[in-house]
Amino acid sequence: MTTDGAQAPIRASEALLKKLAKIGLHSEADLLVHLPLRYEDETRITPVNRAFGGEPVQIEVIVQGNEVQYRPRRQMVVRAGDDSGDITLRFFSFYPNQQAVLSEGSRIRAFGEVRGGFFGAEMVHPRFRKVADDESLPTEMTPVYPATAGLSSSTLQKLIGKALTTGDLSDTLPDELRHRLKLPALARSLTFLHRPPPGTDLDTLHGRNHPAWQRVKFDEVLAQQLSLRRAYLARREQGAPVLRAQDDLGARLLDSLPFGLTGAQARAMAEIGADLAQPYPMQRLLQGDVGAGKTVVAALAACQAISAGWQAAFMAPTEILAEQHYLKLKDWLEPLGVRVAWLSGSLKAKAKREQLAATAADAQLVIGTHALIQEGVDFARLGLAIVDEQHRFGVAQRLALRKKGNNPHQLMMSATPIPRTLAMSYYADLDVTVLDELPPGRTPIKTRLVADNRRDDVVGFIGKHVEEGRQAYWVCPLIEESEALQLQTAQDTYEQLSADLPDLRVGLVHGRLKADEKQAVMAAFAAGDIDVLVATTVIEVGVDVPNASLMVIEHAERFGLSQLHQLRGRVGRGQYESSCVLIYAGPLGEIARQRLKIIFENTDGFEIARQDLQLRGPGEFVGSRQSGVPLLRYADLEMDADLIAMAREVAEEMLTAHTALAEKHLQRWLGSREELLKS
Ligand code: ADP
Ligand code: MG
Repeated sequence: MTTDGAQAPIRASEALLKKLAKIGLHSEADLLVHLPLRYEDETRITPVNRAFGGEPVQIEVIVQGNEVQYRPRRQMVVRAGDDSGDITLRFFSFYPNQQAVLSEGSRIRAFGEVRGGFFGAEMVHPRFRKVADDESLPTEMTPVYPATAGLSSSTLQKLIGKALTTGDLSDTLPDELRHRLKLPALARSLTFLHRPPPGTDLDTLHGRNHPAWQRVKFDEVLAQQLSLRRAYLARREQGAPVLRAQDDLGARLLDSLPFGLTGAQARAMAEIGADLAQPYPMQRLLQGDVGAGKTVVAALAACQAISAGWQAAFMAPTEILAEQHYLKLKDWLEPLGVRVAWLSGSLKAKAKREQLAATAADAQLVIGTHALIQEGVDFARLGLAIVDEQHRFGVAQRLALRKKGNNPHQLMMSATPIPRTLAMSYYADLDVTVLDELPPGRTPIKTRLVADNRRDDVVGFIGKHVEEGRQAYWVCPLIEESEALQLQTAQDTYEQLSADLPDLRVGLVHGRLKADEKQAVMAAFAAGDIDVLVATTVIEVGVDVPNASLMVIEHAERFGLSQLHQLRGRVGRGQYESSCVLIYAGPLGEIARQRLKIIFENTDGFEIARQDLQLRGPGEFVGSRQSGVPLLRYADLEMDADLIAMAREVAEEMLTAHTALAEKHLQRWLGSREELLKS
């Protein structure tokens, strides 16, 4: 590593460099932390008669002959043996030169799994090479590297071998710290993992429990923590408007509500209120299960900004949800004298001009969809940007909203709970507030799983349900491949249900309706003029109709867990007993079965998210996060939770007491990607 922090380059041909770059290997440092997936033990020869046992082994045999057979399919069959016994090597694809190498009398070392076939011991497609009579054995395990087409493990092996001798393996943890953490030195750990000596217990290596692995995994999560922590601290250097309430607007809102805050809501508001009064921008995530009451908290935060003389923006991902927020907040705040503006894609030109003018002038709260971040939308004094269902927006969109002001405070809200380990790692640069309490009077939701051949029973159940004065949702299957097909299905379902339930008023809402048509249907449902609302997933987020207490979801197996949880959360909002019927089509795959089991057994969104994380890995959770936040390659969020917790503490210490080493550590692990994080 040179003094300016740049990484030592890899010495290789242009063509090879290109291939390396494709898998993210740009520098010598990248090579050094490109670790083997597994190892093969070629330091030993196993006699053929002792080669059974499921583990791949190396044998050394003399070829007795080979022939190409055509039945049952084309294959090359090689007969060979050593002093202890005979074996067949079988290849279903092969080159003529391989056939030549495997000719009678050749001495061959073959590596693979030995099976007892019909004709005795055999190896299928072993890796092999011809050796001389007295060829020595390797003295190290053979590392197998993650590779791609066009880049073999053995090419990587050579390059990495070179990097191990010429590269920079110096430690970035000060000795004292390293001893305190009981971690081995980096140089030793990397050398060991790339070149484990003979006799190493491969199980502890493959299970990644070995101290050398602990060290590498720790360094990886430390790099992540350092970069997130640094981004967090950098934000504090920026100035932001100090939003201190100048009047009692918030108190008056509270007085006017028909309910008091839950303890959790009050705590959340206290935290947010304190943040807003700081001279640097808040970046806080407000998490709360579906129905936890995040909107009121957001409204109170907006009140504080408004009362301090600034504007608040409130952005939601769908037209339906944004409009619902608009109507509710207007209803709450206009009587208190707050000027509320509304921006959505569906506004007519004239109305849009008026709302834009208000936003640029004296509107105090501006609510809307993505329309808020379009060019041409100017805020007079944006002090607080609120984003509902933040996981539905990309980074760029959240950034665009922030850019509408001069470092406004940010409040992000989500009902998709981030499991603890994720919050500790990928979201470490955010402050998180959790609403861990639902408002009183919620009724538990009964979940039923029903096979689709009992659809008629479900339809009958709806009839009874409506007779009792309640309303129901019927959510149509998700058809990801085709929007047209999705619409068709919704239309068909609507007609079928209308025919099956002639006495009921059935409505239909889907993503293709014009905004005002959508609004009209939703308003009719909210007013009780529709009994059964057939919907595509447009109702997924935020819709609030307390009298609807039955949710039917068709082809539930096609939905993601958080989606099912969100949909289910549309009911259970009034005083009536609620249920959710998940109709599934069999036969179910293993993952689908597990997913339905999780949603059936759990009502707590956090627990569902945790199990989902285990099932799917973090990729989908962090998908819409900053692309510069590196996915962990070696550490596992669940298994290595203690390492993550440890790295969190150490990051703080490194950044204050060992700045240069911290910088070097980031360079080694993130290299060019670190730039992305800073931008
Ligand atoms: P979410 O967190 O899913 O966005 P909402 O903010 O939409 O939840 O709140 C769900 C429902 O609960 C709304 O009808 C809201 O008015 C109501 N609510 C919110 N807070 C309370 C409370 N403290 N007591 C009673 N009802 C509440
Ligand atoms: Mg909400």
